[in-house]
Amino acid sequence: MSADGSVADLLSRHVRDVPDFPTPGVVFKDIAPLLADGPAFAAVIADLADRYRGRVDAVVGIEARGFVLAAPVAVALGVGFVPVRKAGKLPGPVWGAEYDLEYGSATIEVQQDAFGSGRRVLVLDDVLATGGTAEATCELVERAGAEVVEVAVLMELSFLRGRDRLPGRTLHPLLTI
Ligand code: AMP
Repeated sequence: MSADGSVADLLSRHVRDVPDFPTPGVVFKDIAPLLADGPAFAAVIADLADRYRGRVDAVVGIEARGFVLAAPVAVALGVGFVPVRKAGKLPGPVWGAEYDLEYGSATIEVQQDAFGSGRRVLVLDDVLATGGTAEATCELVERAGAEVVEVAVLMELSFLRGRDRLPGRTLHPLLTI
């Protein structure tokens, strides 16, 4: 695990490993202790906002924990927040993208008029695991006419090689495990 910067160190100390959740064999990265610590949560949001200030016109959050991160970053930057949600949650018209899970598949959606053309977008989520969710989200952002500036995550689970599904994109993990 690399924890060279102070934000990476904060994450190491405030994210809890929950073995065998939600299914046996998975180590769930629980960000609840981070969210519950006001100064730590604020420091993570400020670090992300500093990196993207002046560089993006909107922040996309992926349901559900991505919302909790993307909305305060958007407010700090003075730009809009756009939700990417599981199928059937957003009123249409929407664009949808299907992606593979370990067993089966899932579909996520974004509203077609969420951005406007040429808008520069940050995609933000808590964890990059196999990369399917982030890949599908980037596809949706581009189908809606916007440009993905970067994909940022609190934690990249590098052993799952999710970044291989984001060729040509810049991935910014605050902590790599
Ligand atoms: P993936 O599409 O495999 O990269 O999975 C990423 C999505 O699933 C993110 O929205 C995460 O919130 C969630 N996720 C996957 N693996 C974990 C994990 N070990 N701990 C917490 N969340 C995870």
